[in-house]
Amino acid sequence: MTKDNGLLQDTFNRKHTYLRISLTERCNLRCSYCMPENGIQLSPKSHLMSYEEIFNIAKIFVKHGVSKIRLTGGEPLIRKDIPVILEKLSSLPVELSITSNAIIIDKFINTLKDNGIKSLNISLDSLNREKFKQITRRDQFEKVYDNILLLIKEGFNVKINVVLIKGFNDNEIIDFINLTKELPVTVRFIEFMPFDGNKWDMAKMVSFKTIMENVYNTFTESQIIRIQDAPSDTSKNFKVKGFKGSFAIISSVTNPFCDSCNRLRLTANGQLKNCLFSALESDLLTPLRHGKPIESIIEKAVTAKFKMRGGMDTLEKLQNPELHNNNRSMISIGG
Ligand code: SAM
Repeated sequence: MTKDNGLLQDTFNRKHTYLRISLTERCNLRCSYCMPENGIQLSPKSHLMSYEEIFNIAKIFVKHGVSKIRLTGGEPLIRKDIPVILEKLSSLPVELSITSNAIIIDKFINTLKDNGIKSLNISLDSLNREKFKQITRRDQFEKVYDNILLLIKEGFNVKINVVLIKGFNDNEIIDFINLTKELPVTVRFIEFMPFDGNKWDMAKMVSFKTIMENVYNTFTESQIIRIQDAPSDTSKNFKVKGFKGSFAIISSVTNPFCDSCNRLRLTANGQLKNCLFSALESDLLTPLRHGKPIESIIEKAVTAKFKMRGGMDTLEKLQNPELHNNNRSMISIGG
């Protein structure tokens, strides 16, 4: 590896230009694939990054080449100081975006616009109110759906994230695609991934292949257009001819996109994770609080990044609970 490309380049020549920052470990939903049934041990408030600390850490990443920041969680919008966080981060030369469940997003339309947010990823796993309630353990389907329509009306670019689970919502694949007939959204089907406490089982995962079989059982080959993916895109993008929106598949399990990975993650308690699947964490917050430089810690963490899925480079390894349960739950990583 040449050092010319800086501290955010790893030993596989991947340059990390995208930082995902988790703002909180708390959420106003309880999605079973994300949060363990009995909740998680929350970090004490004093261990969480303040908005100044988030800004100071983000500035260092931006100085070294990060050009895109996504805020996530938990639910990022439940942080009381979200307007200040957005204001601070939007002063940096980055594309800023948010992943949210949209439950309270109607209260933030102007804040989002004022801070240059143009696109949002919104989670919605079912178009059926009862099923939504079952998976999220909260009766909030209408609120989320209405807020998605509001975001579209207000001119935001909306991607809807759908985690598919066999026997639960895999019969809604075509309903979700049909949603893109009139709505200019991208529906992104995500393969169910294993994390601590989410009762993952390979048999519950709906693969890229199965999703496409469903698509071609309904639409003819000539109706489906393959759209060019953006560089470092995690999804494979498609469109039904004549539909206003598009659909995509994120196949982290069966066909991971690690070769072009440009992502790093910062947890709400200030730990840098070099991969979603990696149990390795590097504490940036404690040294920052002691006034120590954190660049060398970042560099070490980036250098330690495995080629594929935090070292789980085969499906056998990924299926080993001793390996994937070593990691945090998704709720406390920040998806
Ligand atoms: N609260 C926000 C939300 O609901 O979008 C942001 C946090 S959530 C952890 C971010 C994304 O991670 C969501 O789109 C969610 O569907 C996805 N996610 C969580 N657990 C997952 C899993 N086990 N497999 C695949 N995706 C998962």
